[in-house]
Amino acid sequence: MDTDDRTIGQILSRRQVVALLGASGYAMLARRPHVRALAQGVGQAPPACVVRPQQTEGPYFVDTQLHRADIRSDPSDGTIKAGVPLALGIVVSRLSEQACTPLPGVMVDIWQCDADGVYSGVQDPRFSTLNQKFLRGYQLTGADGAARFTTIYPGWYQGRTVHIHFKLRSPATQRPGYEFTSQLYFQESVTDAVFAKAPYAARGRRSTLNANDGIFRRGGAELMLATSMQDVGYAATFHVALEGV
Ligand code: FE
Repeated sequence: MDTDDRTIGQILSRRQVVALLGASGYAMLARRPHVRALAQGVGQAPPACVVRPQQTEGPYFVDTQLHRADIRSDPSDGTIKAGVPLALGIVVSRLSEQACTPLPGVMVDIWQCDADGVYSGVQDPRFSTLNQKFLRGYQLTGADGAARFTTIYPGWYQGRTVHIHFKLRSPATQRPGYEFTSQLYFQESVTDAVFAKAPYAARGRRSTLNANDGIFRRGGAELMLATSMQDVGYAATFHVALEGV
């Protein structure tokens, strides 16, 4: 059953990539089985060089061009979103047949909902936050391929498990460019612990777990954050390798 879901997910991803990115994106995904074999093979590539599945951008991406590491505040009034702190690192590598190397200059965007399940910058049946930009921002990867953010543990909204969206884009000057969009997920046991606390607890039981989220089932197991406790919150570093860029 798992295998069925995964197969379907890959087919959908390819379609989406073909629609969104054209032939170069298709080639990137199409070569994935080969890339996987290399990454898991005889030690030519370090373990950090793991190709991840793309997932849907969803309805809440806004290209705010907001360059910042701490995305908890809303620039319109300076208010800071309440929630359990999360230090999130995203480390981007370039995987070729010869080597796995850090990929500098990548524009890494993340966006997520707040503890109440609300996104900024959108008109939605549930809320209107059009002039706000909380919990959005991008960082450029450094020489080590890393982009580091300070955010909060996301809340939840109807029909989705807990997640953070991310998008990787090539430096503006690079031609041809590339774009890679996906989502990050959390262990249910960690979410249970976080949601037992304020301000998350006020919303009651979440509607959807990883196992019954249709988007998660299309590759989410390869998009899990390994969180560790840090100070009053959590920290996680996620490695993603791009091939053909
Ligand atoms: Fe979302």
